[in-house]
Amino acid sequence: MKIVNPATALVIGEVAETSPTEVAVAVAKARSAQGEWADLLVAERVEIVARFKELLGANIERLARTLSSEMGKPVKQARNELNAMPGRIDFFLEHTANAIAAEKVYDVDGMVEYVRYEPLGVVANISAWNYPYFVGSNVFVPALLCGNAVIYKPSELATLTGKAIAELLWEAGVPKDVFQIVVGDGSVGAALLEAPIDGVFFTGSWPTGKKIASAVAARMVRVQLELGGKDPTYVCEDVDPKAAAESLSDGAMYNAGQSCCSVERIYVNEAIAPAFIEAFVESVKGFVVGEPENDATYIGPLARSQQIAVLEAQVADAVAKGAKVLVGGKRHALGGSYFEPTVLTSVNHTMSVMREESFGPIIGIQVVKSDDEAIALMNDTDYGLTAGVYTKDEARARNVLEQVSAGSVYWNCCDRVSPRLPWTGRRGSGIGSTLGTLGIRAFVQPKAWHERRG
Ligand code: NAD
Repeated sequence: MKIVNPATALVIGEVAETSPTEVAVAVAKARSAQGEWADLLVAERVEIVARFKELLGANIERLARTLSSEMGKPVKQARNELNAMPGRIDFFLEHTANAIAAEKVYDVDGMVEYVRYEPLGVVANISAWNYPYFVGSNVFVPALLCGNAVIYKPSELATLTGKAIAELLWEAGVPKDVFQIVVGDGSVGAALLEAPIDGVFFTGSWPTGKKIASAVAARMVRVQLELGGKDPTYVCEDVDPKAAAESLSDGAMYNAGQSCCSVERIYVNEAIAPAFIEAFVESVKGFVVGEPENDATYIGPLARSQQIAVLEAQVADAVAKGAKVLVGGKRHALGGSYFEPTVLTSVNHTMSVMREESFGPIIGIQVVKSDDEAIALMNDTDYGLTAGVYTKDEARARNVLEQVSAGSVYWNCCDRVSPRLPWTGRRGSGIGSTLGTLGIRAFVQPKAWHERRG
Protein backbone atom coordinates (compact mmCIF):
# COMPACT_ATOMS: atom_id res chain seq x y z
CA MET A 1 0.00 0.00 0.00
CA LYS A 2 1.40 3.39 -1.02
CA ILE A 3 1.27 6.27 1.45
CA VAL A 4 0.62 9.52 -0.42
CA ASN A 5 1.09 13.05 0.88
CA PRO A 6 -2.22 14.81 0.03
CA ALA A 7 -0.48 18.19 -0.22
CA THR A 8 2.01 17.10 -2.88
CA ALA A 9 0.48 13.86 -4.24
CA LEU A 10 3.97 12.34 -3.77
CA VAL A 11 4.43 8.82 -2.45
CA ILE A 12 6.12 9.13 0.94
CA GLY A 13 6.12 5.51 1.97
CA GLU A 14 5.03 2.01 1.22
CA VAL A 15 3.76 -0.60 3.67
CA ALA A 16 2.69 -4.20 3.29
CA GLU A 17 -1.04 -4.66 3.82
CA THR A 18 -1.97 -7.27 6.41
CA SER A 19 -3.38 -10.38 4.69
CA PRO A 20 -6.59 -12.09 5.92
CA THR A 21 -4.46 -15.01 7.19
CA GLU A 22 -2.22 -12.63 9.13
CA VAL A 23 -5.31 -10.97 10.61
CA ALA A 24 -6.58 -14.35 11.83
CA VAL A 25 -3.15 -15.19 13.32
CA ALA A 26 -3.03 -11.81 15.08
CA VAL A 27 -6.41 -12.43 16.72
CA ALA A 28 -5.37 -15.93 17.81
CA LYS A 29 -2.16 -14.59 19.38
CA ALA A 30 -4.10 -11.85 21.11
CA ARG A 31 -6.47 -14.47 22.52
CA SER A 32 -3.57 -16.42 24.03
CA ALA A 33 -1.89 -13.35 25.50
CA GLN A 34 -4.93 -11.56 26.91
CA GLY A 35 -5.39 -13.62 30.09
CA GLU A 36 -1.95 -12.83 31.47
CA TRP A 37 -2.43 -9.13 30.70
CA ALA A 38 -5.80 -9.15 32.47
CA ASP A 39 -4.19 -10.84 35.49
CA LEU A 40 -1.92 -7.85 36.10
CA LEU A 41 -3.06 -5.33 38.68
CA VAL A 42 -4.73 -2.27 37.18
CA ALA A 43 -1.87 -0.29 38.75
CA GLU A 44 0.67 -2.30 36.73
CA ARG A 45 -1.15 -1.59 33.48
CA VAL A 46 -1.45 2.06 34.50
CA GLU A 47 2.32 2.24 34.90
CA ILE A 48 2.89 0.89 31.38
CA VAL A 49 0.35 3.23 29.74
CA ALA A 50 1.83 6.16 31.70
CA ARG A 51 5.18 5.36 30.04
CA PHE A 52 3.43 5.48 26.64
CA LYS A 53 2.18 8.96 27.56
CA GLU A 54 5.74 10.05 28.38
CA LEU A 55 7.05 8.63 25.10
CA LEU A 56 4.41 10.53 23.13
CA GLY A 57 5.46 13.71 24.92
CA ALA A 58 9.11 13.12 24.08
CA ASN A 59 8.40 12.66 20.35
CA ILE A 60 5.90 15.39 19.57
CA GLU A 61 7.73 17.08 16.70
CA ARG A 62 8.51 13.84 14.86
CA LEU A 63 4.99 12.46 15.32
CA ALA A 64 3.35 15.76 14.33
CA ARG A 65 5.36 15.89 11.09
CA THR A 66 4.49 12.29 10.22
CA LEU A 67 0.78 12.92 10.80
CA SER A 68 0.89 16.14 8.82
CA SER A 69 2.67 14.50 5.89
CA GLU A 70 0.23 11.61 5.51
CA MET A 71 -3.12 13.33 6.01
CA GLY A 72 -2.45 17.02 5.38
CA LYS A 73 -3.22 18.36 8.85
CA PRO A 74 -1.34 21.63 9.38
CA VAL A 75 1.67 20.80 11.53
CA LYS A 76 0.61 23.31 14.17
CA GLN A 77 -2.73 21.52 14.56
CA ALA A 78 -0.95 18.16 14.61
CA ARG A 79 1.17 19.46 17.52
CA ASN A 80 -2.01 20.67 19.24
CA GLU A 81 -3.47 17.18 18.99
CA LEU A 82 -0.35 15.62 20.49
CA ASN A 83 -0.06 18.26 23.21
CA ALA A 84 -3.61 17.47 24.31
CA MET A 85 -2.88 13.75 24.67
CA PRO A 86 -1.53 13.76 28.26
CA GLY A 87 -4.74 15.32 29.55
CA ARG A 88 -6.79 12.64 27.86
CA ILE A 89 -4.61 9.73 28.95
CA ASP A 90 -4.39 11.07 32.52
CA PHE A 91 -8.16 10.82 32.88
CA PHE A 92 -7.99 7.10 32.15
CA LEU A 93 -4.89 6.56 34.29
CA GLU A 94 -6.58 8.20 37.26
CA HIS A 95 -10.09 6.75 36.93
CA THR A 96 -9.89 3.23 35.52
CA ALA A 97 -9.20 1.44 38.82
CA ASN A 98 -12.26 2.97 40.48
CA ALA A 99 -14.52 2.65 37.46
CA ILE A 100 -13.99 -1.11 37.19
CA ALA A 101 -13.61 -2.00 40.88
CA ALA A 102 -16.13 -4.54 42.18
CA GLU A 103 -19.12 -2.88 43.85
CA LYS A 104 -20.90 -4.42 46.81
CA VAL A 105 -24.57 -3.54 46.28
CA TYR A 106 -26.30 -5.69 48.94
CA ASP A 107 -25.37 -7.37 52.23
CA VAL A 108 -28.34 -8.58 54.26
CA ASP A 109 -28.71 -11.69 56.47
CA GLY A 110 -25.70 -13.43 54.94
CA MET A 111 -26.74 -12.75 51.34
CA VAL A 112 -24.14 -10.64 49.57
CA GLU A 113 -24.30 -9.21 46.06
CA TYR A 114 -21.55 -7.62 43.98
CA VAL A 115 -21.24 -6.21 40.51
CA ARG A 116 -17.89 -7.31 39.15
CA TYR A 117 -16.36 -6.12 35.90
CA GLU A 118 -14.33 -8.29 33.57
CA PRO A 119 -12.55 -7.34 30.36
CA LEU A 120 -14.31 -8.15 27.09
CA GLY A 121 -11.31 -10.14 25.79
CA VAL A 122 -9.97 -9.31 22.33
CA VAL A 123 -11.32 -6.09 20.87
CA ALA A 124 -11.02 -4.60 17.40
CA ASN A 125 -10.23 -0.88 17.21
CA ILE A 126 -11.07 0.27 13.67
CA SER A 127 -10.15 3.90 13.45
CA ALA A 128 -10.44 7.12 11.42
CA TRP A 129 -7.72 9.43 10.12
CA ASN A 130 -8.89 12.90 11.07
CA TYR A 131 -7.65 12.85 14.69
CA PRO A 132 -5.83 9.52 14.83
CA TYR A 133 -4.29 10.15 18.26
CA PHE A 134 -7.57 11.24 19.84
CA VAL A 135 -9.95 8.73 18.30
CA GLY A 136 -7.46 5.88 18.56
CA SER A 137 -6.51 6.48 22.17
CA ASN A 138 -10.17 6.92 23.22
CA VAL A 139 -10.39 3.21 22.52
CA PHE A 140 -7.02 1.51 22.94
CA VAL A 141 -6.02 3.29 26.17
CA PRO A 142 -9.08 2.33 28.27
CA ALA A 143 -9.32 -1.05 26.48
CA LEU A 144 -5.76 -1.92 27.52
CA LEU A 145 -6.15 -0.51 31.02
CA CYS A 146 -9.25 -2.67 31.52
CA GLY A 147 -7.27 -5.81 30.61
CA ASN A 148 -8.27 -6.37 26.99
CA ALA A 149 -6.04 -7.28 24.06
CA VAL A 150 -6.43 -4.85 21.15
CA ILE A 151 -6.19 -5.35 17.41
CA TYR A 152 -5.80 -1.84 16.06
CA LYS A 153 -6.57 -0.96 12.47
CA PRO A 154 -5.65 2.64 11.78
CA SER A 155 -7.21 4.33 8.79
CA GLU A 156 -5.34 3.72 5.55
CA LEU A 157 -4.84 7.52 5.54
CA ALA A 158 -3.05 7.46 8.90
CA THR A 159 -1.05 4.25 8.64
CA LEU A 160 2.36 5.71 9.50
CA THR A 161 0.86 7.33 12.58
CA GLY A 162 -0.76 4.02 13.52
CA LYS A 163 2.58 2.25 13.24
CA ALA A 164 4.28 4.94 15.34
CA ILE A 165 1.61 4.50 18.04
CA ALA A 166 2.19 0.73 18.07
CA GLU A 167 5.98 1.15 18.38
CA LEU A 168 5.58 3.50 21.36
CA LEU A 169 3.08 1.23 23.13
CA TRP A 170 5.47 -1.72 22.75
CA GLU A 171 8.42 0.40 23.88
CA ALA A 172 6.36 1.38 26.93
CA GLY A 173 5.95 -2.28 27.83
CA VAL A 174 2.64 -3.43 26.34
CA PRO A 175 3.33 -7.00 25.16
CA LYS A 176 3.46 -7.29 21.37
CA ASP A 177 0.64 -9.85 21.27
CA VAL A 178 -1.58 -7.75 23.54
CA PHE A 179 -1.51 -4.74 21.22
CA GLN A 180 -1.23 -5.56 17.54
CA ILE A 181 -1.65 -3.46 14.45
CA VAL A 182 -3.15 -4.56 11.14
CA VAL A 183 -2.82 -2.19 8.20
CA GLY A 184 -4.69 -1.60 4.99
CA ASP A 185 -8.01 -0.37 3.70
CA GLY A 186 -11.58 -1.39 4.50
CA SER A 187 -10.99 -4.96 3.31
CA VAL A 188 -8.53 -5.48 6.19
CA GLY A 189 -11.15 -4.09 8.58
CA ALA A 190 -13.72 -6.48 7.08
CA ALA A 191 -11.33 -9.44 7.57
CA LEU A 192 -10.87 -8.43 11.20
CA LEU A 193 -14.63 -8.51 11.72
CA GLU A 194 -14.73 -12.11 10.51
CA ALA A 195 -12.26 -13.20 13.19
CA PRO A 196 -13.45 -14.32 16.66
CA ILE A 197 -13.35 -10.91 18.38
CA ASP A 198 -15.26 -9.95 21.53
CA GLY A 199 -15.95 -6.32 20.67
CA VAL A 200 -15.59 -3.85 17.85
CA PHE A 201 -15.00 -0.17 18.54
CA PHE A 202 -15.32 1.82 15.38
CA THR A 203 -14.75 5.47 14.50
CA GLY A 204 -15.68 6.52 11.01
CA SER A 205 -18.54 7.30 8.70
CA TRP A 206 -22.17 6.32 9.06
CA PRO A 207 -22.20 4.19 5.88
CA THR A 208 -19.21 2.15 7.12
CA GLY A 209 -20.72 2.02 10.61
CA LYS A 210 -23.79 0.29 9.20
CA LYS A 211 -21.58 -2.31 7.53
CA ILE A 212 -19.66 -2.92 10.76
CA ALA A 213 -22.82 -3.37 12.83
CA SER A 214 -24.34 -5.76 10.25
CA ALA A 215 -21.13 -7.79 9.91
CA VAL A 216 -21.09 -8.80 13.58
CA ALA A 217 -24.80 -8.63 14.46
CA ALA A 218 -25.51 -12.36 14.24
CA ARG A 219 -22.56 -13.16 16.54
CA MET A 220 -23.78 -10.66 19.21
CA VAL A 221 -20.34 -9.05 19.34
CA ARG A 222 -20.27 -5.86 21.43
CA VAL A 223 -20.43 -2.93 18.97
CA GLN A 224 -19.65 0.69 19.58
CA LEU A 225 -19.88 3.21 16.75
CA GLU A 226 -18.62 6.80 16.72
CA LEU A 227 -19.89 8.21 13.47
CA GLY A 228 -20.35 11.49 11.67
CA GLY A 229 -22.39 14.58 12.41
CA LYS A 230 -24.19 17.54 10.89
CA ASP A 231 -23.63 19.67 13.95
CA PRO A 232 -25.75 22.83 14.29
CA THR A 233 -25.24 26.02 16.28
CA TYR A 234 -27.80 28.75 16.90
CA VAL A 235 -26.59 32.35 17.34
CA CYS A 236 -28.98 34.58 19.32
CA GLU A 237 -29.21 38.34 18.81
CA ASP A 238 -27.85 39.22 22.29
CA VAL A 239 -24.22 38.23 21.62
CA ASP A 240 -21.23 40.15 20.30
CA PRO A 241 -21.40 39.22 16.59
CA LYS A 242 -17.64 39.43 16.05
CA ALA A 243 -16.72 37.22 19.01
CA ALA A 244 -19.36 34.63 18.06
CA ALA A 245 -18.25 34.70 14.41
CA GLU A 246 -14.59 34.19 15.33
CA SER A 247 -15.38 31.29 17.63
CA LEU A 248 -17.71 29.60 15.14
CA SER A 249 -15.56 30.10 12.05
CA ASP A 250 -12.77 28.29 13.91
CA GLY A 251 -15.26 25.57 14.95
CA ALA A 252 -16.28 25.13 11.32
CA MET A 253 -12.89 25.31 9.60
CA TYR A 254 -10.27 23.93 12.04
CA ASN A 255 -8.58 20.83 10.56
CA ALA A 256 -10.18 21.94 7.25
CA GLY A 257 -13.58 21.13 8.75
CA GLN A 258 -12.64 17.45 8.98
CA SER A 259 -13.79 16.90 12.54
CA CYS A 260 -16.77 14.81 13.54
CA CYS A 261 -17.85 17.72 15.76
CA SER A 262 -17.05 20.54 13.33
CA VAL A 263 -19.79 23.14 13.19
CA GLU A 264 -21.61 22.13 9.99
CA ARG A 265 -24.74 24.35 10.10
CA ILE A 266 -25.35 27.78 11.61
CA TYR A 267 -28.73 29.36 12.36
CA VAL A 268 -28.56 33.04 13.16
CA ASN A 269 -31.32 35.22 14.56
CA GLU A 270 -32.43 37.76 11.97
CA ALA A 271 -31.81 40.65 14.38
CA ILE A 272 -28.05 40.03 14.35
CA ALA A 273 -27.68 38.23 11.00
CA PRO A 274 -26.08 41.01 8.86
CA ALA A 275 -23.42 41.85 11.48
CA PHE A 276 -22.72 38.19 12.29
CA ILE A 277 -22.42 37.14 8.64
CA GLU A 278 -20.14 40.05 7.82
CA ALA A 279 -17.86 39.24 10.75
CA PHE A 280 -17.90 35.52 9.86
CA VAL A 281 -16.81 36.18 6.29
CA GLU A 282 -14.08 38.55 7.53
CA SER A 283 -12.79 35.89 9.88
CA VAL A 284 -12.78 33.20 7.16
CA LYS A 285 -10.95 35.50 4.75
CA GLY A 286 -8.18 35.73 7.35
CA PHE A 287 -7.52 31.97 7.38
CA VAL A 288 -4.19 31.09 5.79
CA VAL A 289 -4.51 28.24 3.29
CA GLY A 290 -1.20 26.61 2.48
CA GLU A 291 1.28 23.78 2.83
CA PRO A 292 0.69 21.75 5.99
CA GLU A 293 4.35 21.79 7.03
CA ASN A 294 4.29 25.59 7.24
CA ASP A 295 3.66 26.85 10.78
CA ALA A 296 1.52 29.73 9.52
CA THR A 297 -0.96 27.44 7.72
CA TYR A 298 -4.44 27.16 9.18
CA ILE A 299 -6.15 25.22 6.36
CA GLY A 300 -4.27 22.48 4.51
CA PRO A 301 -5.45 20.09 1.81
CA LEU A 302 -8.29 17.65 2.38
CA ALA A 303 -7.03 14.23 3.40
CA ARG A 304 -9.20 12.54 0.80
CA SER A 305 -9.07 14.04 -2.69
CA GLN A 306 -12.46 12.43 -3.48
CA GLN A 307 -14.06 14.75 -0.91
CA ILE A 308 -13.52 17.69 -3.29
CA ALA A 309 -16.28 16.31 -5.54
CA VAL A 310 -18.64 16.05 -2.53
CA LEU A 311 -18.03 19.71 -1.65
CA GLU A 312 -18.39 20.85 -5.26
CA ALA A 313 -21.70 18.97 -5.51
CA GLN A 314 -22.96 20.56 -2.26
CA VAL A 315 -22.09 24.05 -3.53
CA ALA A 316 -23.67 23.41 -6.96
CA ASP A 317 -26.85 22.00 -5.40
CA ALA A 318 -27.13 24.95 -2.99
CA VAL A 319 -26.50 27.57 -5.67
CA ALA A 320 -29.04 25.93 -8.01
CA LYS A 321 -31.62 26.24 -5.21
CA GLY A 322 -30.89 29.92 -4.49
CA ALA A 323 -27.90 29.98 -2.10
CA LYS A 324 -25.31 32.77 -2.29
CA VAL A 325 -21.58 32.07 -2.09
CA LEU A 326 -20.06 34.85 0.04
CA VAL A 327 -16.53 33.51 -0.04
CA GLY A 328 -14.84 30.45 -1.58
CA GLY A 329 -16.98 27.85 -3.33
CA LYS A 330 -14.42 26.00 -5.43
CA ARG A 331 -11.09 24.18 -5.57
CA HIS A 332 -8.24 26.30 -4.30
CA ALA A 333 -5.64 27.71 -6.68
CA LEU A 334 -3.01 25.59 -4.89
CA GLY A 335 -4.56 22.62 -6.75
CA GLY A 336 -4.49 19.03 -5.52
CA SER A 337 -7.02 18.43 -2.79
CA TYR A 338 -7.14 22.00 -1.51
CA PHE A 339 -10.61 23.56 -1.29
CA GLU A 340 -11.33 27.21 -0.59
CA PRO A 341 -12.91 27.95 2.79
CA THR A 342 -16.52 28.53 1.79
CA VAL A 343 -19.45 30.41 3.31
CA LEU A 344 -22.96 30.02 1.90
CA THR A 345 -26.04 32.05 2.87
CA SER A 346 -29.70 32.01 1.74
CA VAL A 347 -29.56 28.28 2.44
CA ASN A 348 -32.39 25.99 3.52
CA HIS A 349 -33.06 22.37 4.34
CA THR A 350 -33.80 21.33 0.77
CA MET A 351 -30.04 21.68 0.16
CA SER A 352 -27.57 18.85 0.76
CA VAL A 353 -25.13 21.31 2.41
CA MET A 354 -27.61 21.64 5.30
CA ARG A 355 -28.41 17.93 5.55
CA GLU A 356 -25.41 15.78 4.65
CA GLU A 357 -22.05 15.75 6.40
CA SER A 358 -19.66 18.01 4.43
CA PHE A 359 -16.42 17.12 6.23
CA GLY A 360 -14.65 20.06 4.64
CA PRO A 361 -14.11 23.82 5.02
CA ILE A 362 -17.65 24.80 4.08
CA ILE A 363 -20.56 26.19 6.07
CA GLY A 364 -24.17 27.20 5.43
CA ILE A 365 -25.62 30.05 7.48
CA GLN A 366 -29.44 30.21 7.65
CA VAL A 367 -31.36 33.18 9.08
CA VAL A 368 -34.18 32.38 11.55
CA LYS A 369 -36.87 34.47 13.23
CA SER A 370 -37.16 32.73 16.62
CA ASP A 371 -35.65 30.24 19.05
CA ASP A 372 -38.43 27.77 18.21
CA GLU A 373 -37.64 27.92 14.52
CA ALA A 374 -33.93 27.38 15.29
CA ILE A 375 -34.65 24.40 17.54
CA ALA A 376 -36.89 22.77 14.93
CA LEU A 377 -34.22 23.18 12.25
CA MET A 378 -31.42 21.95 14.53
CA ASN A 379 -33.41 18.77 15.16
CA ASP A 380 -34.26 18.29 11.48
CA THR A 381 -31.37 15.88 10.88
CA ASP A 382 -30.58 12.18 10.75
CA TYR A 383 -27.50 12.82 12.93
CA GLY A 384 -27.17 13.69 16.63
CA LEU A 385 -23.55 14.28 17.65
CA THR A 386 -23.31 17.86 18.98
CA ALA A 387 -25.34 21.09 18.98
CA GLY A 388 -24.75 24.53 20.45
CA VAL A 389 -26.14 27.96 21.21
CA TYR A 390 -24.52 31.38 21.63
CA THR A 391 -26.45 33.71 23.95
CA LYS A 392 -25.86 35.78 27.07
CA ASP A 393 -29.13 34.50 28.57
CA GLU A 394 -28.72 31.34 30.65
CA ALA A 395 -32.44 30.48 30.70
CA ARG A 396 -32.58 30.80 26.94
CA ALA A 397 -29.50 28.61 26.51
CA ARG A 398 -31.01 25.95 28.76
CA ASN A 399 -34.27 26.03 26.83
CA VAL A 400 -32.49 25.46 23.53
CA LEU A 401 -30.02 22.85 24.77
CA GLU A 402 -32.68 20.84 26.61
CA GLN A 403 -34.73 20.57 23.44
CA VAL A 404 -32.01 19.60 20.96
CA SER A 405 -31.37 15.90 20.54
CA ALA A 406 -27.58 15.45 20.50
CA GLY A 407 -24.96 13.59 22.50
CA SER A 408 -23.02 16.77 23.43
CA VAL A 409 -24.34 20.32 23.78
CA TYR A 410 -22.40 23.58 24.01
CA TRP A 411 -23.27 26.98 25.46
CA ASN A 412 -21.04 29.75 24.02
CA CYS A 413 -18.46 27.25 22.77
CA CYS A 414 -18.20 24.61 20.05
CA ASP A 415 -16.08 21.83 18.51
CA ARG A 416 -14.97 20.69 21.93
CA VAL A 417 -14.34 17.25 23.45
CA SER A 418 -13.59 16.59 27.13
CA PRO A 419 -11.96 13.43 28.50
CA ARG A 420 -14.18 13.78 31.57
CA LEU A 421 -17.47 13.67 29.67
CA PRO A 422 -18.99 10.86 27.63
CA TRP A 423 -18.48 11.26 23.88
CA THR A 424 -21.59 9.83 22.36
CA GLY A 425 -23.80 10.16 19.32
CA ARG A 426 -27.47 9.65 18.72
CA ARG A 427 -29.19 8.20 15.61
CA GLY A 428 -26.76 8.28 12.63
CA SER A 429 -23.99 9.61 14.88
CA GLY A 430 -23.53 6.29 16.58
CA ILE A 431 -24.04 3.90 19.45
CA GLY A 432 -22.33 3.89 22.86
CA SER A 433 -19.82 6.24 24.52
CA THR A 434 -16.11 6.70 24.72
CA LEU A 435 -14.39 9.01 27.26
CA GLY A 436 -15.64 9.73 30.77
CA THR A 437 -16.49 6.90 33.13
CA LEU A 438 -18.90 5.40 30.60
CA GLY A 439 -16.01 5.27 28.16
CA ILE A 440 -14.07 3.09 30.61
CA ARG A 441 -16.97 0.77 31.40
CA ALA A 442 -17.47 0.27 27.65
CA PHE A 443 -14.46 -2.06 27.75
CA VAL A 444 -15.68 -4.39 30.48
CA GLN A 445 -18.62 -6.70 30.91
CA PRO A 446 -20.50 -6.94 34.18
CA LYS A 447 -20.81 -10.13 36.16
CA ALA A 448 -23.65 -10.27 38.71
CA TRP A 449 -22.07 -12.01 41.72
CA HIS A 450 -24.34 -13.65 44.36
CA GLU A 451 -22.89 -15.05 47.62
CA ARG A 452 -24.75 -16.91 50.38
CA ARG A 453 -22.52 -16.57 53.44
CA GLY A 454 -22.91 -18.51 56.67
P1 NAD B 1 -14.51 5.58 7.00
O1 NAD B 1 -15.84 5.07 7.43
O2 NAD B 1 -14.28 5.72 5.55
O3 NAD B 1 -13.34 4.63 7.52
C1 NAD B 1 -13.14 4.38 8.90
C2 NAD B 1 -12.35 3.10 9.08
O4 NAD B 1 -13.14 1.98 8.67
C3 NAD B 1 -11.06 3.02 8.25
O5 NAD B 1 -10.05 2.44 9.06
C4 NAD B 1 -11.44 2.11 7.11
O6 NAD B 1 -10.36 1.43 6.53
C5 NAD B 1 -12.38 1.15 7.80
N1 NAD B 1 -13.35 0.44 6.93
C6 NAD B 1 -13.88 0.86 5.75
N2 NAD B 1 -14.74 -0.06 5.28
C7 NAD B 1 -14.77 -1.07 6.18
C8 NAD B 1 -15.48 -2.31 6.25
N3 NAD B 1 -16.36 -2.69 5.31
N4 NAD B 1 -15.28 -3.10 7.33
C9 NAD B 1 -14.41 -2.74 8.29
N5 NAD B 1 -13.70 -1.59 8.27
C10 NAD B 1 -13.88 -0.75 7.23
O7 NAD B 1 -14.30 6.95 7.77
P2 NAD B 1 -13.08 7.99 7.67
O8 NAD B 1 -13.13 8.67 6.36
O9 NAD B 1 -11.83 7.35 8.10
O10 NAD B 1 -13.47 9.04 8.80
C11 NAD B 1 -14.34 10.11 8.57
C12 NAD B 1 -15.67 9.85 9.23
O11 NAD B 1 -15.46 9.53 10.60
C13 NAD B 1 -16.56 11.09 9.26
O12 NAD B 1 -17.89 10.70 9.00
C14 NAD B 1 -16.41 11.59 10.69
O13 NAD B 1 -17.48 12.38 11.14
C15 NAD B 1 -16.30 10.30 11.44
N6 NAD B 1 -15.67 10.51 12.75
C16 NAD B 1 -16.42 10.38 13.86
C17 NAD B 1 -15.86 10.60 15.12
C18 NAD B 1 -16.68 10.48 16.36
O14 NAD B 1 -16.08 10.46 17.42
N7 NAD B 1 -18.00 10.43 16.31
C19 NAD B 1 -14.52 10.95 15.20
C20 NAD B 1 -13.76 11.06 14.05
C21 NAD B 1 -14.36 10.83 12.81
